[in-house]
Amino acid sequence: MTVAVVVGGGIGGLAAAIALHRSGWRVTVLERAGEFGEIGAGLALWPNAMRALAALGLAERVRAIAGVETVGGVRDRAGRWLSRTDNADVARRHGWPLLMVHRAELVRLLVAALPAELLRAGSEVRAVRPDGDGVVVEHRGGSVRADLVVAADGVRSRMRRQGWPEAQAPRYAGCTAWRMVTEPLGGRGAEGALFWGRGERIGFAALPGGRFYCFAAARVPEGGGEDPYSGLMRRFGGWPDPVPEMLAAVPEDAVLRHDVYETPPPASYVRGRVALLGDAAHAMEPTLGQGAGTALEDAVTIAACLRGEPDVDAALARYDRVRRPRTQAIARRTARLGAAGLVAWPPGAWLRDLAARLVPPGVLLRSMDSVLSWTPPEVEERGRSDLGPGGGAGTGA
Ligand SMILES: Cc1cc2nc3c(=O)[nH]c(=O)nc-3n(C[C@H](O)[C@H](O)[C@H](O)COP(=O)(O)OP(=O)(O)OC[C@H]3O[C@@H](n4cnc5c(N)ncnc54)[C@H](O)[C@@H]3O)c2cc1C
Repeated sequence: MTVAVVVGGGIGGLAAAIALHRSGWRVTVLERAGEFGEIGAGLALWPNAMRALAALGLAERVRAIAGVETVGGVRDRAGRWLSRTDNADVARRHGWPLLMVHRAELVRLLVAALPAELLRAGSEVRAVRPDGDGVVVEHRGGSVRADLVVAADGVRSRMRRQGWPEAQAPRYAGCTAWRMVTEPLGGRGAEGALFWGRGERIGFAALPGGRFYCFAAARVPEGGGEDPYSGLMRRFGGWPDPVPEMLAAVPEDAVLRHDVYETPPPASYVRGRVALLGDAAHAMEPTLGQGAGTALEDAVTIAACLRGEPDVDAALARYDRVRRPRTQAIARRTARLGAAGLVAWPPGAWLRDLAARLVPPGVLLRSMDSVLSWTPPEVEERGRSDLGPGGGAGTGA
C-alpha cells in the first residue's frame, strides 16, 4: 500500500486525506496546532464545492448542518437593492443551492470522516527531503517516509517556501476582512445581502439556528492594529438596516480581523513527490467564496489522478495540469471582482453600482457557470474533458 503524508489539517488537508484514504492510500495527517479545528466564522459552499463533498461521500451530511439562503443580492451604501438573486436559480442551474456553514462544524464533520489514528495534532512539519522514490517528512514528533506529500499547510506554507525557493512570498491583497457569527436572532431574520460602499463592503447570510454569518472588508494599509470590534463598529455601525441589528448581535470577542493575502502562482503545483493543495497553492481573495471550494476540488482531483494512473509522478503531473489553469483563472477573477467591490473612487463606485443595477441577475449567474459547473474527474473521464491539458470546464473563469 502506498503511503501519503498530508501536511496541514485544514479543510483542504482533511479533504485530501479523506479522498486518498477512500482510494486505498495509507494516510497520516500532520497538523501543527494542538487540535484539529477552525475559526468561528461562516463559509459559503457553492455547487462545485458540494459536488466535491459528494465525491467524498459527505454532501448530505454537510447539507444537514448548512443554512440555505432563499434570496440574496447586492445593495448600495444607502440600502437600495442593486441586484437580487434567487438562490433557487442557482439550484436549478447547478443542482445545489448556495449553502452556508459554520467553519468549525464543517471541520468537525471532516475529522469525523477519518479514522482517529490517521490524525496527528501537535505535529508541526519542519522539513521534507527527497529519499529515493519518496520523501522523508521531519516533524515535531519524529520523521516518517512517504511516497507522496500533500502540502496543505495554508497561505504561509512552509512546504512551498522550502520546495519552491524561487516562489514569491504571499502578497497583501490590499484589504482587511472582518468575520463573525451572531448570536441567534430569535427568528428575526433578514434576507442575506452584500452592501457595497466606497472602499468598504459588509454582508451577512443565514446560518442554521437563527444565527447569521457577517463578513466585511475594507481597503486599508496592511497590518492595522485597531481592536477588531471597535474598528468594525466605527466603520459599519451606521450603515443601513439591518446592518446595525446584525452587529448588535455579535459578541464583542467574536470578531475576527485578518489581512487578506494571495499566493502568487508557482510555476507548478508539484515538485518531486510534493504536491501543493488549497491555499498553499492558490490562496485567493474571498470575493467569490471559492478558496475552500477549490481546495475541496483539489483534494478530489489529486486522489482521482492517482487512482487512474499507477505511476505516481505521471499522476501528479496530471494533477498540476488540471488544477493550475482552473484555480489560477478563478484567483484572477476574484482579484478583479475584489477590486470592483472595494473601489473607493466615487465615480468608479457609481459606475459599478449602475452596472450592477442594469445587468440582469440571470446574466450574472450564467457568468459564474465555468466556476460552478465543475464536476469531479471520474464523471468527466467518462464523457466530457476536464482531465486533458487546459480542458473544458476545468479551465475556469
Ligand atoms: C475573509 C475570508 C473569507 C473566506 N470565505 C470563504 C468562503 O465563503 N468560501 C470558501 O470556499 N472559501 C472562503 N475563504 C477561503 C478559505 O478560508 C480558504 O481557502 C481555506 O480555508 C483554505 O484551506 P486550506 O486547508 O488550504 O488552508 P488552511 O485552512 O490555512 O489550513 C492550513 C493548516 O495547515 C496547518 N499548518 C501550517 N503549517 C504547518 C506545518 N508546518 N506543519 C503542520 N501543519 C501546518 C495550519 O495549522 C492549518 O490547520 C475565505 C477566506 C478569507 C480570508
